[in-house]
Amino acid sequence: MSRYWNSTIKNLKPYVPGEQPKDKRYIKLNTNENPYPPSPRVIETIKTAANEDLRLYPDPNGDELRKVIASYYGIDTEQVFVGNGSDEILGFTFGAFFDADNPILFPDITYSFYPVYANLFHLNYKTIPLDESFAICEEQYLIENGGIIIPNPNAPTSRYLSHQQILKMAEYNCKCGKLVVIDEAYVDFGGESVAKYIRDYPNLLVIQTLSKARSLAGMRIGFALGSEEIMQGLNRIKNSFNSYTLDRLALVAAKEAFLDKQYFEEVTKKVINTREWVVSRLRAADCTVMESRANFIFMSHPAVTAEELFGKLRERGILVRYFNLPRINNFLRVSIGTDEQMKMFCEAVEEIGNM
Ligand SMILES: *Cc1c(COP(=O)(O)O)cnc(C)c1O
Repeated sequence: MSRYWNSTIKNLKPYVPGEQPKDKRYIKLNTNENPYPPSPRVIETIKTAANEDLRLYPDPNGDELRKVIASYYGIDTEQVFVGNGSDEILGFTFGAFFDADNPILFPDITYSFYPVYANLFHLNYKTIPLDESFAICEEQYLIENGGIIIPNPNAPTSRYLSHQQILKMAEYNCKCGKLVVIDEAYVDFGGESVAKYIRDYPNLLVIQTLSKARSLAGMRIGFALGSEEIMQGLNRIKNSFNSYTLDRLALVAAKEAFLDKQYFEEVTKKVINTREWVVSRLRAADCTVMESRANFIFMSHPAVTAEELFGKLRERGILVRYFNLPRINNFLRVSIGTDEQMKMFCEAVEEIGNM
């Protein structure tokens, strides 16, 4: 607490990002980064763009990038918005569309940034419990609300919601003029985007990132897909805060990442293949592992508590994520690394289990 803080920041409970340790080299399976580098074409493009043009402001609307993303998804450029990481777009979304009169709905176990944004913008929210198997029951969202936001696949549970379930909520909220926001940070690891429904559902907002499947967490690039009406709202709030959210290097890097589709497909396929053998191997060791369509798994061990397993893995130089929260405090979220890293992870889990 400081005397310089105003009442708004005094009352904030900021998000705590996963650890980026500096003490030694870990096998880092704690923040869902991609274990593979960005496309070599992306790196070349950034190098070429690091020139004297950096004295000039970037395009505030990112038109060239938006055009490429629009053509990738078969939608109009006006249905695309780009931002400084999807976290920024999520923040804009809470500020621009969710109303203070009715509670925003999201799952009780989900991306822990959502309650932080709700707090920041003085919005009420109501959490809807996942069922025992950590599945989302879409029927429970068909109540009066100020907007719905759900990650698909959900984090940290890794479970996937069908398009039919999402459209049921979009249909319900369409009549009340409220948004349904689908945070598709992990959709490329075996899921399918609901972007193709944005023409039919003008209240459907899809938010994605280049941090996970396109290996660009360090560049901070996110984008949103939705009706022109929603995009105009995002532009209003962005241009009331910072007109240049993406720098020149990020804009060209992102564009190239979309153009190099082959590399993207190779990398996501590799992560999925690794995930599948890891899930089988852990299940063979009697671990509980949720069905995953993400680049991480959510698991618990039959004999070792999650907290203990977290500590023992850390001692062995393997970093995973442990959430000391109700319902999930005996689970670990483990990002999918390379085959070699995951072999070491599985061996460590087996060894700790046999101690
Ligand atoms: C990683 C993640 C994000 C943030 O992505 P950035 O584009 O890096 O800000 C958003 N939502 C979920 C659910 C995530 O896991």
